[in-house]
Amino acid sequence: MSEIICKFCGSGITANVQKCKNCGEWLEERPQQAINVVVNNQNNSAICGFVSSKNKWIAFILLFCGLHRFCVGRFFSGILFLATAGCGGLWTLIDGINIFSGKFTDNCNLPLR
Ligand SMILES: [Zn+2]
Repeated sequence: MSEIICKFCGSGITANVQKCKNCGEWLEERPQQAINVVVNNQNNSAICGFVSSKNKWIAFILLFCGLHRFCVGRFFSGILFLATAGCGGLWTLIDGINIFSGKFTDNCNLPLR
């Protein structure tokens, strides 16, 4: 268990408590938690990245087969798309426009390349 110094009374307190047990002040800065947040962000970006790895041209070609949503990892809406035949073509049109305008996103909510 690591210790931090209370900035109000200067006594050593355990880093995982929110309130100083000596003076009763709430500790605003919690250095250990701040480090954990940064690590978590890095982990998320390792999974999803900052730019989608999916190419919009591949998605556009697959759009004609109704399989573009599978290639970007959106399986649930992909099945829905196939089951409704692209909502009778309307959904196909909307997705086609979104792919070209860069609004079509993958399963990590990132725009396609
Ligand atoms: Zn204190």
